[in-house]
Amino acid sequence: MMTKTMAPPEVTSTCLICQAPLSFWQAQNSGLCGRPECEWRYALLRQQHEVCVVCGRPLSARELSIQTCSAPACQRAAVAERGRMVYERNQARYAALIQQEIEQAARLRDRVMTAFGFREPDSFRLTVIPAATTRLVKPTERRRRALRDHLNALLDQTAGWPAPPLTAEEPAPPPTPRESRLQAVLGQACACCRGFCCEGGGDHAYLKVETLHRYQAAHPDQRPRDVLATYLERVGQRTVEGSCIYHQADGCALPRTLRADLCNRHFCKALVEFQRDLPATGPIRGFFVAAHYGAIHAAMLVHDDQVLIVQGAGAPEP
Ligand code: SF4
Ligand code: SF4
Ligand SMILES: [Zn+2]
Ligand SMILES: [Zn+2]
Repeated sequence: MMTKTMAPPEVTSTCLICQAPLSFWQAQNSGLCGRPECEWRYALLRQQHEVCVVCGRPLSARELSIQTCSAPACQRAAVAERGRMVYERNQARYAALIQQEIEQAARLRDRVMTAFGFREPDSFRLTVIPAATTRLVKPTERRRRALRDHLNALLDQTAGWPAPPLTAEEPAPPPTPRESRLQAVLGQACACCRGFCCEGGGDHAYLKVETLHRYQAAHPDQRPRDVLATYLERVGQRTVEGSCIYHQADGCALPRTLRADLCNRHFCKALVEFQRDLPATGPIRGFFVAAHYGAIHAAMLVHDDQVLIVQGAGAPEP
């Protein structure tokens, strides 16, 4: 049932029941003339939910089903109110699903820990990551054309860019063994999730002028048409439906050197938090659970360079 949350859009100047003229005070407050019959009749209508939820006018038989009178302002207010309610209901459902996912994931971790005799289950941080759908489809000609047009537009723009400086920048120091292990763990988590965040890649894969310019600087022998071919030939025969054109069953079809900076840098909130909470020293441990709308799809346990894929993680709980 809708709740009355806003002031009536217009103040009636006659009694809502008998249409007798009202004083300013009556019009501002009850909308009734004060006669007991009108008070009684109106109370009954309210009790039976036969008054407009916005302005309080008695409803005609035709208006009863929507509980709103036909005044345009009441109709607009009711539509806005319904929209708000649907939004809040969806938010509440979503929050409940997330909570359900976390509880299910925690029970799964405890079962796995017990089964393998691990002590200190809490030292394996529970991280719930999304789970992508993995229906594979053939990328359409339209999608390939859209990618080609995007790349051509970028290559046209790189032509106007200055050549890279001759003196190369100081190369970044090589990653420490721990940093390399962490990168490997994050890569495995993304494989467990199967690239949920790649959905937004569409037919552009977040590729920008900077990406192509960087690639051209590293491969000065390649002409624009070679660069174009390099990118186009990476599109697979089967890509994940509704996701980035480079998103395949086994992950991204582009090597890291060809990917957009965003793709190389991005981590979802769950993985950002995992890295933030990771102790500065000691083994890298984690229990990752990929879930979608309250259903667990996959799970894995990581202890440094050892990875245990939990078989049947999505099966019903015992
Ligand atoms: S960053 Fe997060 S959402 Fe993206 S693929 Fe990795 S685990 Fe999935
Ligand atoms: S280019 Fe690769 S990493 Fe980037 S969105 Fe597409 S599939 Fe994901
Ligand atoms: Zn009256
Ligand atoms: Zn109304």
